[in-house]
Amino acid sequence: MTEQTILVTGVSGFIAKHCVLELLKHGYAVRGTVRSLGKADETRATLSKHCDTSSLSFVEADLLDDEGWAAAMEGIDGVLHLASPFPAGEPKDPNELLRPAVEGTLRVLRAAVAGGVPRVIQTSSMAAVLRGRSQAATTPFTEHDWTDVDNPAVTSYYRSKTLAERAARDFVESDGRGLHFSTINPGLVLGPVLDHDIGTSAEVVQTFLSGKAPGVPRIWFSVVDVRDVARMHRLALESSEPSGGRYLGVSEVLSFLEVARLIRDKLGVAASKVPRRELPNFLVRAVALFNPTVRTILPDLGFAFQVDNSHTCNSLKIDFIPAAESAPAMAESLIELGLV
Ligand code: NDP
Repeated sequence: MTEQTILVTGVSGFIAKHCVLELLKHGYAVRGTVRSLGKADETRATLSKHCDTSSLSFVEADLLDDEGWAAAMEGIDGVLHLASPFPAGEPKDPNELLRPAVEGTLRVLRAAVAGGVPRVIQTSSMAAVLRGRSQAATTPFTEHDWTDVDNPAVTSYYRSKTLAERAARDFVESDGRGLHFSTINPGLVLGPVLDHDIGTSAEVVQTFLSGKAPGVPRIWFSVVDVRDVARMHRLALESSEPSGGRYLGVSEVLSFLEVARLIRDKLGVAASKVPRRELPNFLVRAVALFNPTVRTILPDLGFAFQVDNSHTCNSLKIDFIPAAESAPAMAESLIELGLV
């Protein structure tokens, strides 16, 4: 079999680097896009600690610019489209997120179709799934659920991921010319970080470890290990399932307090500053009056939802790493890298 070459967009990112490791270890060649080639050396240096990177190359391409995308697609057998901004708080201008997410995704898809690439996997998010129902809903969320972007409580990030996935699916339907397309929709991604470029999800665990959080809000997250997210991308590339798959990357749903406990249980004294109590909702609401980042979590306060991941497990034939392993693994990696 000839070696297949996969284009990974946003290759410098937290999840993308794990995807590259997964692909290289399974015999693929990888071409990664970076906004500036300056990031290529540090990305290779990180990955070289874990595997042979001689089949990894880089190209420059920005989601907001056509330049570079046609060349990036030459000779490519599949695309993993991960690049998209994921900031911790609300941006001043929502277009800072919406344009790269939506226009960028369409730019990648158009270039892939024009270049004759047979398959694209888009990294969407549970953000595109979880905000379409009231807290009174009791049945588990599935791949059929969609975030309602007209709900004013939906943050710009949630809007960006929902609109980008919708736009991609519409494009593939109308102009995909037979492109095989699917999405991976991860929850909050835990598991080991590989270098100092840790991404927003690890900042949550970093804050726990640093003792900066006096307590945690009463909110629940769908969580998943980054190594499983990487595996899901590869399995979606190799899957014989029909085009259009929507694969939820969720091992379980946990409260913030449970995530904190899992880290404390495994790390002992190294995690002595990790919060031990929940903050009352009234206090979180009061802080939100002054803090726009805290304001974004208000719709989630007290919402202990469930997710049914059986479609993903059956279609991709994957068992998820439990959070009892992935939450401490993220904390340990942050400590090992001197980031706490
Ligand atoms: P990172 O912030 O680590 O990576 C984001 C990547 O996107 C970076 O490589 C960044 O490049 C690139 N990027 C941002 N804007 C542009 C642009 N205009 N043009 C080209 N590249 C750009 O995030 P994650 O690894 O955590 O996330 C990767 C994907 O997974 C995103 O699509 C995110 O929405 C999704 N996701 C993440 C979850 C999580 O918990 N981490 C959960 C669910 C989904 P640069 O290095 O130059 O900034």
